[in-house]
Amino acid sequence: MLDLAIIGGGPAGLTAGMYATRGGLKSVVMFEKGLPGGQITSSSEIENYPGIAEEVTGMELMEPWPKQCMKFGLKHEMKEVVRVSKKDDIFEILLSGDEKVEAKSVIVATGSTPRRSNVKGEDKFFGRGVSTCATCDGFFYKNKEVAVLGGGDTALEEALFLANICSKVYLIHRRDEFRASPVTVEKVKKCDKIELILNSQVEEIVGDNMGVTGVKVVNKDGQKRELEVPGIFVFVGMDVNNSILKDENGNFICEVNESGNVVVNLKMHTSVDGLFAAGDIRIDAMKQVVCAAGDGAVAGIQALEYVNH
Ligand code: FAD
Ligand code: NAP
Repeated sequence: MLDLAIIGGGPAGLTAGMYATRGGLKSVVMFEKGLPGGQITSSSEIENYPGIAEEVTGMELMEPWPKQCMKFGLKHEMKEVVRVSKKDDIFEILLSGDEKVEAKSVIVATGSTPRRSNVKGEDKFFGRGVSTCATCDGFFYKNKEVAVLGGGDTALEEALFLANICSKVYLIHRRDEFRASPVTVEKVKKCDKIELILNSQVEEIVGDNMGVTGVKVVNKDGQKRELEVPGIFVFVGMDVNNSILKDENGNFICEVNESGNVVVNLKMHTSVDGLFAAGDIRIDAMKQVVCAAGDGAVAGIQALEYVNH
């Protein structure tokens, strides 16, 4: 019986483990299906993590985290969690391969995955000109032209953000109506630096061994155009990694919002006693490393208190 099972080894899960074990919990296991570090390890540059003044890659930023976070007894098992359930006061964690583990408390920190558009060239140039985070990568395109793909709130808000940094933003959307809120649409339409490319699909993201050099688009009449840009931001929705919180009938075991983000209070408590959520998976997440780590610290301390009392 574990004191605490942590699911996900990104900034939130690692930090949760450090706080819980340093606070005195003895048997704490972090289930991470890959190497610890989380989605930031796919970023080519990060410059907004306080205390790290020099530009580093996401991989470099996260490299020392596991060693520090496991110093106090946190263990990592490289296993994928399939489902979390609770019976009486005990959680059961079902792992791939049908292995089962019991725990007194659980922190879910499985993050979210930016949806891919599946455009040709997207995977090849991901992290080398294709990005899903304008806050993180926008500055690298200062005074340059970039493209944005998508027509929801994220795409339009991020296009406005990028317009403050870049010389021009091409906003490519597959329809002529936006899914984003009317207020945001109005702001985008009034922004001189944003050119709307509507009723259009991206055919291919092209580049060389340095990264992206252009984006080929085609409109609904078949007219083609190549945008010479060194970067494209893809905002076609997010997939919250919440499937482990569904029971066998597909119902969530705790409260989630309409986007599938786990509802928590300021102490990262979910609607189920002893179950905590931290990082990108929770409601109102800022989707930043520093925020995920902060959530992890809160959840780790709360799990410690829950188990002790
Ligand atoms: P994640 O980092 O997503 O970690 C979740 C972990 O859970 C993953 O390692 C995953 O493998 C694991 N997992 C998921 N499901 C399971 C399962 N069923 N079983 C076991 N393990 C599982 N933020 C910044 O602050 N600055 C930046 O410059 C920046 N740049 C970014 C660039 C890119 C390209 C991307 C994609 C994101 C960037 N971000 C940046 C955002 C930042 O990476 C996230 O906000 C942060 O990683 C969230 O941390 P997390 O711990 O909540 O989740
Ligand atoms: P979203 O609302 O699902 O929008 C995704 C957009 O990407 C849509 O315009 C969609 O086109 C387009 N798209 C999807 N797949 C595509 C593909 N393969 N190729 C090209 N385009 C594709 O996602 P989101 O913008 O990330 O927002 C997610 C949720 O968060 C929404 O509920 C949103 O309202 C909310 N949100 C709110 C705020 C806010 O309140 N300020 C800010 C950000 C997000 P179609 O329109 O044609 O389907």
